[in-house]
Amino acid sequence: MAEAERGLLIVISGPSGSGKSTLVRELMRDGEFPLSFSVSATSRPPRPNERDGIDYLFLPRERFEQMRDGGEFLESAEVHGHLYGTPKGPVEQALAAGKWVLLDIDVQGFHQVREMMPDAVSIFVRTPTLELAAQRLNERGTESEEVIARRIKQAAREMAHAPEYDYQLVNESLPQAVSTFRTLLWGVRTLRGCKHD
Ligand code: 5GP
Repeated sequence: MAEAERGLLIVISGPSGSGKSTLVRELMRDGEFPLSFSVSATSRPPRPNERDGIDYLFLPRERFEQMRDGGEFLESAEVHGHLYGTPKGPVEQALAAGKWVLLDIDVQGFHQVREMMPDAVSIFVRTPTLELAAQRLNERGTESEEVIARRIKQAAREMAHAPEYDYQLVNESLPQAVSTFRTLLWGVRTLRGCKHD
């Protein structure tokens, strides 16, 4: 069936410190599912360990706005004072090739995608408590105290949207969360009758 062959859009959201990027990396690595990670564009400056074109497409704000106004993003939003968006072309190509495209986007982006593509599977990753998210942000050590404080406040606001997602994944420890994520994707595959062997 054309629908099954078209692939699947998977939206993953979760507050800073929820560990969702690590989770996604682990899942991509083991190659069990035909996953393709959508590299977002952002006007945020790169962190020291981030690579342009792999973690994000780092763009000057003006270039981002040009692309957004030209309809080149599937969705876009301002998060923590910076612009983020999902380039449309690569997502469409990957879906057409039958891939399961992972979008690591915020709640605003999820709302836009849900409107356009109600078939998308949505997963909200969170820590059991806000304190744990704060602790993880501190351990990451890539942000100033002020930025961390802002992100914790934002995390509390984002958590309120968790029930709007199809699934909530509580990330208490990485191995457990990876395993739950995998189980969830197997379930999604069965439910959707996706063709992939
Ligand atoms: P960070 O700057 O920590 O990498 O990401 C900050 C937030 O922006 C995260 O919640 C992340 O999910 C979100 N984000 C990353 N890429 C996109 C995107 O393309 N669209 C939207 N709406 N949010 C994004």
